[in-house]
Amino acid sequence: MSDETIIIGGGPAGSAAAIKLAKQGMPVRLLERKLRPHHKVCGEFISYEAAQYLDELGLDLAALGAEPIRHARFYNGESELIFNLPFTAWSLSRCKLDSALLEQAASAGAKVELGTTVRHLSRAGDEWALFTRNRSSTGQTGTELSANTVFLANGKHELRGWKRRTHASRQPSHHNVIGLKMHFSPSALQQVAWPGTVEIHLFKGGYAGLEPIEKGGINLSF
Ligand SMILES: Cc1cc2nc3c(=O)[nH]c(=O)nc-3n(C[C@H](O)[C@H](O)[C@H](O)COP(=O)(O)OP(=O)(O)OC[C@H]3O[C@@H](n4cnc5c(N)ncnc54)[C@H](O)[C@@H]3O)c2cc1C
Repeated sequence: MSDETIIIGGGPAGSAAAIKLAKQGMPVRLLERKLRPHHKVCGEFISYEAAQYLDELGLDLAALGAEPIRHARFYNGESELIFNLPFTAWSLSRCKLDSALLEQAASAGAKVELGTTVRHLSRAGDEWALFTRNRSSTGQTGTELSANTVFLANGKHELRGWKRRTHASRQPSHHNVIGLKMHFSPSALQQVAWPGTVEIHLFKGGYAGLEPIEKGGINLSF
């Protein structure tokens, strides 16, 4: 049996785990179902704390083109609150962030396999057995893998047989939540409204966030 640790999912959680383990000299294989980094529903706001973690992982946010965020504007009906943040936060599209983290995992020594979906995970004696479906330009194949240690970093996605437990105290209404996001290319005039600023609009049942991202774009997320 291989002493490789297998990580399922190549989002920030999976990549961060892969980087940390690979830097310790441990053999790691990261399996990500998408063939290439992709856009995800996200506000794309990188908090001061998250920026510290990313720095520890070896990411240079400024070099990646992230926008520094130093001001915040909150709107609630007619009320408005505008203030300077007591720290610098950042904004970067998830496509770019996830992609940089995957590259960092590969350069730390992790085997990063894109286009590999884990279809089944089960306990087989003392080890984990995984069945994967691998997509490539030439078609699809299935592979069986085994490992002592598996990290589930598949985000909100369910892996068959490994459904997340929901919190008993959650009301059914908490499940009726949706998220949307869209990137805009604003006019030069509109860009002036968002230099280094995150803007939050609160409304009954949710909120919308606007902030600049790399290359002069603006992310709108609900
Ligand atoms: C509307 C909205 C706004 C948000 N705004 C912010 C924000 O502004 N700032 C912030 O810090 N956070 C924000 N978040 C939260 C942030 O998006 C999540 O915390 C983050 O994506 C979680 O990372 P993850 O690695 O756990 O999961 P994910 O990013 O979801 O990554 C999981 C990965 O696993 C892969 N995968 C899934 N199943 C399999 C499988 N079977 N086999 C192989 N691969 C698989 C998926 O393709 C995916 O790439 C927001 C979330 C939402 C919904």
